[in-house]
Amino acid sequence: MVFPKHPCTKALLMRAAAHLLAVLLFAAAGSAVAQQKHLIDPTPPGSLNAQPLPPLQNPDAPSTPAKELFARKSTPFPGAPRSIGGYFDGCLAGGVPLPITGPAWQVMRPSRNRNWGHPQLVRFIERFAENAKKIGWNGLLVGDMSQPRGGPMLSSHKSHQIGLDVDIWFAPMPDHVQSRAEREFGSATDVVAPNMLDVDPEVWTHKHTELIRTAAQDPAVIRILVNAAIKKALCRETGADRTWLFKVRPWYGHAEHFHIQIPCPAGSAECKPQPPPPPSDGCGHELDFWFKDSTLHPPPSKPKPALTLAGLPPECRQIVKAP
Ligand SMILES: [Zn+2]
Repeated sequence: MVFPKHPCTKALLMRAAAHLLAVLLFAAAGSAVAQQKHLIDPTPPGSLNAQPLPPLQNPDAPSTPAKELFARKSTPFPGAPRSIGGYFDGCLAGGVPLPITGPAWQVMRPSRNRNWGHPQLVRFIERFAENAKKIGWNGLLVGDMSQPRGGPMLSSHKSHQIGLDVDIWFAPMPDHVQSRAEREFGSATDVVAPNMLDVDPEVWTHKHTELIRTAAQDPAVIRILVNAAIKKALCRETGADRTWLFKVRPWYGHAEHFHIQIPCPAGSAECKPQPPPPPSDGCGHELDFWFKDSTLHPPPSKPKPALTLAGLPPECRQIVKAP
């Protein structure tokens, strides 16, 4: 559940009755904006008794969405680790799980079974968690990585398909090992103001900048996606050393977590690299597009047809069909 933040709550109590209606209408508009923002990129609750998905009627039909097949695989494809295809259209062999509790991280929403990745990604997360401790961040809350065999997902992401992407929440780990219920139902921290034009000063801290900088300065990281309001804050708060800013790029949503991407690993010949971000720091006028009304409130887009196995590299068929 996301509670809309509205600055007028106190004022509302003090207003005369004659003004109450106008204030309420304003509050309603504010919460509508907040909700619209969250629809882009929500962090839905998980489940304490996740049921296995029902078997597919016709799994071999060419029209079967690949996400339906990959979502039904709860174990990795054995063998050497390989990221196959692209971040948006691929799969994973030899995936390994990130333990749900580590010395400096905890996996959130474990019922989603998306704490899988290429071993390089797991190593990166371990390293990042340690480095985050050094700047005073009390450990990472880890969101989605990939499914055991990668591939498209039933909800939330188009990328995260080849075990090289991870979402990190904008809240530090609590001091205790969280219960399953806390991990499944705890709400994420939204650091963006309701009007989406900047970070929320009541939530955002300089530690957030430090955390993202720490991730970006890891040589394994090629790209980090954040909400444009966060990018704007990073541009403002970063001092003389701006060499890492080019890796951090604005995208829709990403108000409750940031998305980290590592490159195609050695030994994954079938991995399709993404072009690196441009070398500029991405600040100033480069951000204008993101704050245009048409970008902040885009018209609803037509859903694209779901990816089928024909849209993935041929090996992904073997990987998802293996028992
Ligand atoms: Zn992500």
